[in-house]
Amino acid sequence: MASSQETGMIQKIGVVGAGQMGTGIAHVCALADLDVHLVDINPEALKTALDTVGSNLSRQVAKGRITEKDCAAALQRIATSSSVEDLGDCDLVVEAATEDEDIKRSVFKALVPHLKKDAIVASNTSSISITRLAATTDRPERFIGMHFMNPVPVMKLIEIIRGIATSEDTYKSVRDLSIKLGKTPAVSEDFPAFIVNRILLPMVNEAVYTLYEGVGSVTAIDTALRLGANHPMGPLELADFIGLDTCLNVMNVLYDGLADSKYRPCPLLVKYVEAGWIGRRAGRGFYDYSGPEPVPTR
Ligand code: NAD
Repeated sequence: MASSQETGMIQKIGVVGAGQMGTGIAHVCALADLDVHLVDINPEALKTALDTVGSNLSRQVAKGRITEKDCAAALQRIATSSSVEDLGDCDLVVEAATEDEDIKRSVFKALVPHLKKDAIVASNTSSISITRLAATTDRPERFIGMHFMNPVPVMKLIEIIRGIATSEDTYKSVRDLSIKLGKTPAVSEDFPAFIVNRILLPMVNEAVYTLYEGVGSVTAIDTALRLGANHPMGPLELADFIGLDTCLNVMNVLYDGLADSKYRPCPLLVKYVEAGWIGRRAGRGFYDYSGPEPVPTR
């Protein structure tokens, strides 16, 4: 009999955490004909998630990318509840809870006793070691990183992170599933911040140093990278979009994990986070978002 590790057999997906990322993951899985069970400890988050998936699917219909029928069928495939006990019949569970190692450990502890023996567990963490998370479960060989990008329905990449114990079968199942979701996988070994953030965040941090040292203004730095390197967004705009708290967190993970001074977070980045000026979410970061157009703050 075929094992459910063969991708063709991944039919039911559990998603833990119905925030920004879990909502998008549920959306793309349901649209790829998979049954989805979305879990969150906060009932409001579940309600918001379903509303968001509904409106984003409707937007795809309006743009002619999917049909009304696809939209209705995808919504039908998403069930929600507040307990990981309900994920016992899932072939794969993607954990997308808050980026806090203690929270993730408690999710896995509660989850694994209810899972099928051959179910795969994936974490969407941006920065926590997959090997360390895997070691808290009963199935390190069936544990993997599946790092979706934000916004999930739009972004084409899934970074797949192999922990030291991740089996080849688990990797192949998740790789094939990523393709089925319409995404392109890129595989990374399990080192701090993986590939995308290892390269992107030091660039953002360097842009903040460039501002800090007075080499250029916010406008000059963002214009230079948009027009000079063809980046769709300047690095300081991008920092505000990601959230300066998240940027600082990733720099600290690189600095602590690789013990190399080239990853030292820029003191100006630290100061903005201390001030609560964390970017778009706060209405202020390197730009002020209180008016109709973002205004550079330096
Ligand atoms: P979020 O704050 O929007 O959502 C987290 C959700 O987890 C919340 O709804 C919260 O109620 C829920 N939660 C907390 N504890 C829980 C528990 N014990 N059981 C079930 N649900 C619980 O966060 P997010 O931005 O969606 O990030 C989720 C994960 O995805 C993090 O690991 C983050 O690093 C990663 N990630 C985020 C981004 C991004 O750009 N936001 C990109 C890639 C990966």
